[in-house]
Amino acid sequence: MAKIDLEHITKRFGNVVAVNDLTVEIHDGEFFFLLGPSGCGKTTTLRVIAGLDRSDEGAIFIDGRQVNHLQPADRDIAFVFQFYALYPHLTAYDNIAFPLKAVKVPKPEIQSRVGEVALTLQIEHLLNRKPGNLSGGEMQRVALGRAMVRRPRAFLMDEPMANLDAKLRVDTRSELKHLQREIGTTTVFVTHDQVEAMSMADRIAVMHEGVLQQLGAPQEVYNQPKSLFVAEFMGSPSMNLIDGEIQSQGGEFILQLTHTDIGLPISGKQMARVQREAANNKLVFGVRPEHIVVSKEPINGRIQASVHLVESLGSANIVDTFLGENSETGNLIIFRARTHPAFQVETGQSVWLDFDEQHTHLFDRYTGKAIR
Ligand code: ATP
Repeated sequence: MAKIDLEHITKRFGNVVAVNDLTVEIHDGEFFFLLGPSGCGKTTTLRVIAGLDRSDEGAIFIDGRQVNHLQPADRDIAFVFQFYALYPHLTAYDNIAFPLKAVKVPKPEIQSRVGEVALTLQIEHLLNRKPGNLSGGEMQRVALGRAMVRRPRAFLMDEPMANLDAKLRVDTRSELKHLQREIGTTTVFVTHDQVEAMSMADRIAVMHEGVLQQLGAPQEVYNQPKSLFVAEFMGSPSMNLIDGEIQSQGGEFILQLTHTDIGLPISGKQMARVQREAANNKLVFGVRPEHIVVSKEPINGRIQASVHLVESLGSANIVDTFLGENSETGNLIIFRARTHPAFQVETGQSVWLDFDEQHTHLFDRYTGKAIR
């Protein structure tokens, strides 16, 4: 097991800054996720930890010892590529034994180490099978076994589930989370799939264009995004985000949505935060679909809208509600809400929206930073 510290890591490829001044502490035994869109620098970070790429600046420590100068083989960490990438002509036993045979570990020791790993992963009965005769979940265990047999201090996983079908991915997620807990080895997992990160991670580092955007537990990153980028990236359907500016109306403050006649109420508490933290009064309002309360009855103080589209997901409905039009661009102002599946509405029907202030977000439109 190992603690991994990255201090001010920068990695460039020509003019591209793939990783830009990244500092994170990965705790001993942690299931740590690097999450972000394609090209944000996740794989490069992993390769720098493994020693497959050298950083241009910064230091990497494993258990307090600087390893920048060490070759990948001397860092004691195992790279786990895609789970299905086993040698098809070898049995599960030989797949797991492969890294030990490659460095000429004596046969009795190989037998005992493969046996030990198979016992932990509960795959002793599968050792004589070839990958073609294993289920996806079993292949995952064998692939993990192949990494574990070297007794690494940490696992690095680069989108290991990328080529699994949707159902298998879901099963694999819960199984991997369970296994990681059981084995207790520090694991750094790269993915662009926020659901994967939300469902398995102890902590998530969200990256964008090589820069760390936010680091925290899944619920913290989801519920308290520090920036517009994180707010938009986490969650599906994503957070409703809409531009507006603060105006005073009869002693009250409202957020007047840009080029519309729609005003959202702003409480005194929110206004105090805006005055304290925003560079000016141009803001972005955010609310997640599950935090919009849609009602069929007109209720005072609620915002009137009409149903634009209803998408039934079985476990919930996604209701697109139309508030008005941007007079300049002609764009429709739509708030997407997640409702109970039993909530039945028709296209065109009037509805009234309410937001729990606790679950609404305001961002500075220019800096993109959350106003807390
Ligand atoms: P993906 O999910 O697509 O793998 P990523 O977040 O893992 O993306 P990286 O592969 O780390 O991103 O790439 C970060 C940036 O560095 C990208 O702009 C990429 O084009 C660039 N890059 C990565 N490796 C190289 C390389 N060997 N040579 C030149 N540019 C590279």
